[in-house]
Amino acid sequence: MSVRVRFAPSPTGKLHIGGLRTALYNWLFARQQGGTFVLRIEDTDRARYDADSEDDIVDSLHWAGLAYDEGPRVGGPCGPYYQSQRAELYREHVKRLLDQGHAYVAFDTPEALDALRADNKSYNAATREHMDNALVLDSADVIRRLNANEPYVVRLKIEPGERLTFTDLIRGSVAFDTSEIDDQVLLKSDGMPTYHLANVVDDHHMQITHVIRGEEWLPSVPKHLLLYRAFGWTPPQMAHLPLILAPSGGKLSKRNAETLGIPVSVEQYRAAGYDADALVNFLALLGWNPGTEQERFTRDGLAEAFGFDGVSKSGAKFDLDKLNWFNGQAVRAMSVGDLADQARPALEEAAVAFDDDSLSAAARLMQERVTFPHEIAEARYFFEDPTRYDEKGVKKRWKADAAELVAAYAEQLATVTSFDAATAERELRAITEARGVGAGRLIHPTRLAISGVTFGPSLFDLMVAIGQDACLRRMKHAVQVLG
Ligand code: GLU
Repeated sequence: MSVRVRFAPSPTGKLHIGGLRTALYNWLFARQQGGTFVLRIEDTDRARYDADSEDDIVDSLHWAGLAYDEGPRVGGPCGPYYQSQRAELYREHVKRLLDQGHAYVAFDTPEALDALRADNKSYNAATREHMDNALVLDSADVIRRLNANEPYVVRLKIEPGERLTFTDLIRGSVAFDTSEIDDQVLLKSDGMPTYHLANVVDDHHMQITHVIRGEEWLPSVPKHLLLYRAFGWTPPQMAHLPLILAPSGGKLSKRNAETLGIPVSVEQYRAAGYDADALVNFLALLGWNPGTEQERFTRDGLAEAFGFDGVSKSGAKFDLDKLNWFNGQAVRAMSVGDLADQARPALEEAAVAFDDDSLSAAARLMQERVTFPHEIAEARYFFEDPTRYDEKGVKKRWKADAAELVAAYAEQLATVTSFDAATAERELRAITEARGVGAGRLIHPTRLAISGVTFGPSLFDLMVAIGQDACLRRMKHAVQVLG
């Protein structure tokens, strides 16, 4: 049987980084097995439904390069791929369970449920203890109350005292005791199915062979196993991925991510300038270990190496520095032309006056130094004369003899016919040596004069990138202004 996996997000907001990792592991496994990757939108919770969310999910997957084979907008043989469009199918299945005695109608009132919660009582314990005021009703009464249009739900009948086990592809054998599970609501009073029912019905009808999802869904497994059994279906294989943890431990929640400066939604990563391949590479290793020292992978390499035996059972700590390292590596691996193109929007936004030559020179010199392409726009000195000089830098580096040294250097540079890095360096050393001072005495002030700041790429390469005329102009200006 060919592998079919699915990513089944609920459209309740922006796709989070954890959701993208789940999608990625599904995608990798499908690619590796020559299988099919399905996107299913689990939109039955109308109260939490967010209309923009589906676009965001689809766009985010597309941006990350995780194309799905079947799903919204592309269709497929098992559609529709929106649960809200499959209500009839769920109702048929609920009817089947009712007919076979696996489920029952219950007229739970919100007040009764609140009272149970307030008493810290489980639904089953309460209903079984007090069968006289039970929420489970016999059929004559049910028919009367249904006819009277009383709101009702349908619940799965769960017999206590059974040990259910299944083998998780990551966690191995996992056991549950049915005494700890309440009779699960399958159909809500609004006629919509719950997650459990719709998820199982769809996984079966979409012929899903492997369910790969976050660990937070592990407690749902026994309910699903009981549903599969009630329907007489074979459950798919399952793999529950480890939680993503904050760097200090503890679940990486939206709130603590925000306080730690860790972007939450995929859209935020995209807006921050992360490279999709770098993010994918990083996420692949967030919970999975290839068993070798290798860190950087192509997508094909990931798909080939991926395996559930390499996925850890314990949580994976999110390390933003590591992600930034991957991003820096992606920047180094780009062509200078691509890097320049990716820096362009930031330059435009910052209203920097640049031309293609200066942009490509900047990209070439900054490629080894930046984490994001847009950082090139911060090095405005490639494109414009500095309008101010870093105050601390001036205090530290613009000594009493700086003006005289820079002026002399500018004068000398004006005479050279070939303005290359070796010449610029030779002329600088000639000046400092003649005066018996260290080269730094002139290097630092020259950098300040040219860039306005005290850091950046190699000074002589920078000077060549900026060009002879601009260098001389900037040096003379600094001598005038800084004295
Ligand atoms: N709709 C669920 C979610 O939002 C799907 C969980 C599952 O994969 O079964 O994650």
